[in-house]
Amino acid sequence: MKLYEFQAKNILKNYGILVPQGKVISSSDDAPEVFREIGCASCVIKAQILAGGRGKGGGIQFVNTPSEAQTIASRMFGSSLVTHQTGLKGAEIKYLLIEEAVSIKKELYLAITIDRSLQMPVLITSTEGGMEIEEIALRAPENIIREPLDILFGIHPFQLRRITSKLGIPITPSSKFTNLLIKLFDVFVKNDCSLLEINPLVITSSGELCALDAKIEIDDNALYRHPEFEQFTQYQDFSQAEVLARRYRLSYISLDGSIGCLVNGAGLAMATMDMIKLHGGEPANFLDVGGDASLEQIIQAFEIILSDYRVKAILVNIFGGIMKCDVIASGIIQAVKEVGIHVPLIVRLEGTNVNAARKLLNESGLNIIPAKDMKSAADAVVKASNNGYIDR
Ligand code: ADP
Ligand code: MG
Repeated sequence: MKLYEFQAKNILKNYGILVPQGKVISSSDDAPEVFREIGCASCVIKAQILAGGRGKGGGIQFVNTPSEAQTIASRMFGSSLVTHQTGLKGAEIKYLLIEEAVSIKKELYLAITIDRSLQMPVLITSTEGGMEIEEIALRAPENIIREPLDILFGIHPFQLRRITSKLGIPITPSSKFTNLLIKLFDVFVKNDCSLLEINPLVITSSGELCALDAKIEIDDNALYRHPEFEQFTQYQDFSQAEVLARRYRLSYISLDGSIGCLVNGAGLAMATMDMIKLHGGEPANFLDVGGDASLEQIIQAFEIILSDYRVKAILVNIFGGIMKCDVIASGIIQAVKEVGIHVPLIVRLEGTNVNAARKLLNESGLNIIPAKDMKSAADAVVKASNNGYIDR
């Protein structure tokens, strides 16, 4: 789950990390009041969207009076902000963060993320703050410092010394900087982040370290142990399908194609999407019901897939390992009866009790197209999706 800047900054603040004083608003009428509350000569109005590059796209505006705050805020609300990360359609601005304008002496880049090849968190930092890391990586990769972090021990003192010296942080803020790194790693681990990016982290003119921007992504698989993040979801703009998927613990990602996929296991789901593409089709979604899906989950999975009007055919591809195929087949039959499927349904089952399962599907009287292997399943579903509706 991606967090908005104001949500990420709230977390940082709770860990004693300095962030600019600010408040989020959802109506421009509140802008003058918030400007006065902050009590600074100048404030920044920042578009809250789940994408970066807002500065360049016009999503960060400086204002100097309460009425200017209102004018700029009303212009920004409801408009669509296009940045290099949003695509051409842009992202609608529904929330604005008004915060004090900080006097910047130096901007740094700082992030912690997971390095999959090292299988551990890695700290990435650079003196070239404010710029996208991809840009620095292309132009001056030698300015990027990477430091793998020990998840159990934390950041070793020698690593802290190495990082500060490579960054050329002056002695005075250096202890503040190492304290900040320790706190940031704490935020990363305790909140199950997959990304924590502060760009820029600034040294202010009074020598303080302040997180001017904050991007946090929480590992979805760990959300169940963070009930405190539930409050964030009201802002997050999930589609109805995503809300259902979360509720029924289904791994669901909407894609652009026309073939709905219902698969058990992430690996098989990926392979299924590959097979569909190999046969010239486009998957409409990734959907993994997990290794031991219940009947209710299968029904909800069909609901989710069918809520996407672009879906022209569905492929169910299940390997009965822990689950038995006949149990899954009964689940599919019941789900089809309950949900009422109006597009061709291709089912490929393999594994324990597969013969009993095929018999159940054949005798169900439902218009289910059985496939004996993945190749023929992919072939059948691509053809069905091209032919359009089958009257049931
Ligand atoms: P984005 O990364 O989406 O462009 P940022 O929050 O990083 O948005 O803001 C872009 C730039 O705007 C920053 O690099 C910084 O120079 C300036 N900026 C952002 N917030 C403030 C602030 N509170 N005070 C002063 N300058 C700011
Ligand atoms: Mg930024």
